[in-house]
Amino acid sequence: MMVYNSSFRFSVSRILPSVRTVHTAPLKAANVKITGIKTPSQPKPNEQLVFGKTFTDHMLTVEWTKASGWGIPEIKPYGNLSLDPSACVFHYGFELFEGLKAYRTEDNKITMFRPDKNMERMNKSAARICLPTFDSEELIKLMGKLIQQDKHLVPEGKGYSLYIRPTLIGTTNALGVSTPDRALLYVITSPVGPYYKTGFKAVGLEATDYATRAWPGGCGDKKLGANYAPCILPQLQAAERGYQQNLWLFGPEKNITEVGTMNVFFAFKDSSTGKKELVTAPLDGTILEGVTRDSILALAREKLDPSEWNINERYYSINEVEERASKGELLEAFGSGTAAVVSPIKTIGWTGNDIDVPLLPGEQSGPLTKDIAKWIADIQYGRVSHGNWSRIVADLNTDAI
Ligand SMILES: *Cc1c(COP(=O)(O)O)cnc(C)c1O
Repeated sequence: MMVYNSSFRFSVSRILPSVRTVHTAPLKAANVKITGIKTPSQPKPNEQLVFGKTFTDHMLTVEWTKASGWGIPEIKPYGNLSLDPSACVFHYGFELFEGLKAYRTEDNKITMFRPDKNMERMNKSAARICLPTFDSEELIKLMGKLIQQDKHLVPEGKGYSLYIRPTLIGTTNALGVSTPDRALLYVITSPVGPYYKTGFKAVGLEATDYATRAWPGGCGDKKLGANYAPCILPQLQAAERGYQQNLWLFGPEKNITEVGTMNVFFAFKDSSTGKKELVTAPLDGTILEGVTRDSILALAREKLDPSEWNINERYYSINEVEERASKGELLEAFGSGTAAVVSPIKTIGWTGNDIDVPLLPGEQSGPLTKDIAKWIADIQYGRVSHGNWSRIVADLNTDAI
């Protein structure tokens, strides 16, 4: 028996790798095929840029099949996709996306902000819905080539940037619910202006406890398209009552999770000790792992004096916010995300009352919110360097990168 067993195991382990391993092609930036547009468009004047409505001249597409892996990446003129009406993206929501930005720095280079974080998150989203994963570094290189192609369309100026939207969809043509055996990865880019044209504009929120954005064991921590359509109705209902956005609560404790499609931070001050605290919800699977959230936490830990500030990822509820506001312990609140970077909050509607968040006299935010916005903008526009957070993708001073 012993002999039989060990020789059996020996032969299986020798056979398995060659039987099981399917060698399909990895995503490879070096294989890119570039077809340039005949007449490149002129940049629109900055004041005409509306978030996500204007696109650049080119897009990147790469097809994937289960049988052969990733195909040839193509950079080609921006245009329609042609898909079969039975494609699984249309029926079962096989779709995920990312959102990141490229900035024109003051020395005329174009940089992407922390693209490695977005690629890591994109791969996690893909794995969750059985779409193919890829080597992050290769897609970063491809996005860089796409941006180089349209570099004259990256707008210049405070608050202006190029919004980048990588997207991955399942394209299997069949109505059975199953693992997609075909997919399409594409990237489009949109020149965008500042979220708030005239500095900050603090928003009013309605705390929502009748609908839930995400739950433990769900997939609210992934950027899946299916997570977003159900969030519009509670926002419309908040808007009917005069609030710009809704604040998502979770569970019987009514813990604060996110605001609209942004992460959210609160600052408190303990009135007995005088110690201040910057708080955001922990990454427990119900919170989208925002790159802006991560950047704010890192910068706050680096820059705020630990004898004055605690920086915590912990659970906190709307009841805590209400109680601490009544004791004068609520200092500031703001949302965080790639589009607006930071978005100050001035009031929160909850059970028929408004909890007011203090703002600097005559201004639209508190002092910490303002500092954080500046710390991040300084890095994004290349005035301050921070490790590998800015990745150079084009140099407008020369033709080469
Ligand atoms: C994208 C997103 C965020 C913000 O993530 P960033 O990487 O900072 O842009 C926060 N919450 C939700 C639900 C999101 O979709």
